Amino acid sequence: MDEIIRIEHLNKEYATGAGSVRVLDDVSLNVNRGEFVAVVGPSGSGKSTLINMLTGIDRPTSGAVQVAGTDLNALNENQMARWRGRHIGVIFQFFQLLPTLTILENVMLPMDFCNTYPVGARRAKALHLLEQVGLGDQAHKLPSAVSGGQQQRAAIARALANDPPLLMGDEPTGNLDSKTAAQIFALFEDLTRQGKTLVMVTHDRELAARIPRVVAVQDGRICSKC
Ligand code: ADP
Ligand code: MG
Repeated sequence: MDEIIRIEHLNKEYATGAGSVRVLDDVSLNVNRGEFVAVVGPSGSGKSTLINMLTGIDRPTSGAVQVAGTDLNALNENQMARWRGRHIGVIFQFFQLLPTLTILENVMLPMDFCNTYPVGARRAKALHLLEQVGLGDQAHKLPSAVSGGQQQRAAIARALANDPPLLMGDEPTGNLDSKTAAQIFALFEDLTRQGKTLVMVTHDRELAARIPRVVAVQDGRICSKC
């Protein structure tokens, strides 16, 4: 099978006033291309920290992280930002759209940052993505003028801007009502059918039960019996 994520003996410690705290403890995990993986576990167990290691938003204390064939430890901050822009679409609980840009401009931003398409092609590409997530008619509005579910759709279109193979969400439905969450979830299912790999932290047991593979985290470890 074709691996897109390989983590080996990953440890993460944070220095605190009371000394160093180990937040991820000897975590190893492989994910194949095209998999849909849920990451579940109690609050404070290390789920966000794990996702941040995979997106390169944060770095491990020790251990190897390989994503889409790249060893993330080998990249400096600049290289990391560019690498992330091309290989990973990140979706957050609170959408993180830029409030002064229209929805269309928000979706074009990663294309501008990574220079993935010719300048003249970006607008049409972004509009096409917005149509794909059901927002074609909202493209010229500011994020504040649409609903939370629509903002998350826009954030998903933005995550898809550079056609990354991997999408990662940290509780992407955590701020949505259950009906809207189910619609966003259906969109994720569509994307895995199109060949994307998806790793999604969720608190929602019902949604997690519909995800083919569930990885449970407890006290910074991946546990197979919880
Ligand atoms: P989860 O997403 O599962 O709720 P997190 O990964 O956010 O958990 O956090 C795991 C643990 O690491 C928590 O105990 C949290 O307080 C601690 N932690 C997270 N970030 C930091 C940091 N920057 N400094 C110190 N401790 C942190
Ligand atoms: Mg978290």
